[in-house]
Amino acid sequence: MLTVAEADDLLASHQLSLTTETVAFTEAPGRVLAETILADRDFPPFDRVAMDGIAIQYDALADGQTAFSILAIGRAGEPQQPLPDPTGCMEVMTGSVLPSGADTVIRYEDLSITDGIATLTIPAAEISRGLNVHKQGTDRRTFDVVLSAGVRLRPVDLAVVASVGQTSLSVRKRPRVAVVSTGDELVTIEQTPLPHQIRQSNAHLLWAALHEMGIDASIHHYPDDVATITSGLSALLSGHDVLVMTGGVSAGKADYVPDILAGLGIRKHFHKIEQRPGKPMWFGTSPDNQRVVFALPGNPVSTTLCFYRYVRPYLETAMGLPGEPPLYVQLAKPVTFAPPLTYFTPAHLTTSTEGTLLAEPLPGSGSADFTNLTAADAFLEFPATESNFPAGTVVQAWAIG
Ligand code: AMP
Ligand code: MG
Repeated sequence: MLTVAEADDLLASHQLSLTTETVAFTEAPGRVLAETILADRDFPPFDRVAMDGIAIQYDALADGQTAFSILAIGRAGEPQQPLPDPTGCMEVMTGSVLPSGADTVIRYEDLSITDGIATLTIPAAEISRGLNVHKQGTDRRTFDVVLSAGVRLRPVDLAVVASVGQTSLSVRKRPRVAVVSTGDELVTIEQTPLPHQIRQSNAHLLWAALHEMGIDASIHHYPDDVATITSGLSALLSGHDVLVMTGGVSAGKADYVPDILAGLGIRKHFHKIEQRPGKPMWFGTSPDNQRVVFALPGNPVSTTLCFYRYVRPYLETAMGLPGEPPLYVQLAKPVTFAPPLTYFTPAHLTTSTEGTLLAEPLPGSGSADFTNLTAADAFLEFPATESNFPAGTVVQAWAIG
């Protein structure tokens, strides 16, 4: 058996790396950018009027002038005009090009206008040269980087991409993922289970968790039958990059999955981690790392923990994301556990008035009581080196969606 840290290392050294594809702008939301986006021109591209008001030559004000004749109007979308006279002014609108010969904008709120004369209503000392002018290139210069590869494209990122005129962009391919459950006791959610049966839930958890990551997975289920599982997995391995399996990896009589995967040429990198829940987790890849299989224990809490603790971070890296920064929380209550295993417990998170994230471990967190998870925001990770964690201890947490 290996430790949690050893499992992390083995996952990192068998990383799947996905190639890129070009998608239209409209297909890009939520995808991971695979190219560097450069400014095609200065931002802003001209000295831009930042307030509705008048544009003046500051020297006139410095010479004691506080009233200015309005000589012209400049609107957004019009080419630059000259200020006709350095002692006069032009009415200018936000987003218009600052008139040549002008260098300062005074807002309407600081003026009174009568008979074509704009008179300052605030002390002249409050106006400085360049006021309310957004200078060309102060945001970015032509060829400056506006967005780097490795970001998941959010609306604000796409606004920047749009503003440089890029209609298609290079993004990381998404992994083709199949979710596979096994078990003779499982029926579909549409069926009414017999007394000895239960409805399938893990496959739906995994499908939804992948969906949240922008991955559109297919769902497959096989009974505990070696021939059926073997032919099913063999077909899935040819059309998918990643299989996320649930069930059939423990020590029971019907836990055939590890042997079947080995028979299909998937090399085991680990089976069993010193942790609770989720001890029987299995991970392997094809020899070229182009096919990756996670086989998670079927207990619903184990499947959930293993997905959020190992599979999600792995897939984020595969998709070119830098990985989320670790989440640390403070225990609101003491936690004690017996065996020398890394211990994970679901917790509800709240924020204290000091701005600290507080974790309330949930009761009844045995690996089978999975309806409790609806109250959980995260799993807390307790290192195997200790067994008593007083209230206030800071531990790492793994958010669950
Ligand atoms: P296994 O890992 O196959 O030994 O299953 C362990 C426990 O998890 C058993 O009680 C199973 O009935 C349950 N289980 C396995 N797969 C699923 C599933 N897809 N949905 C819900 N429960 C499951
Ligand atoms: Mg089973």
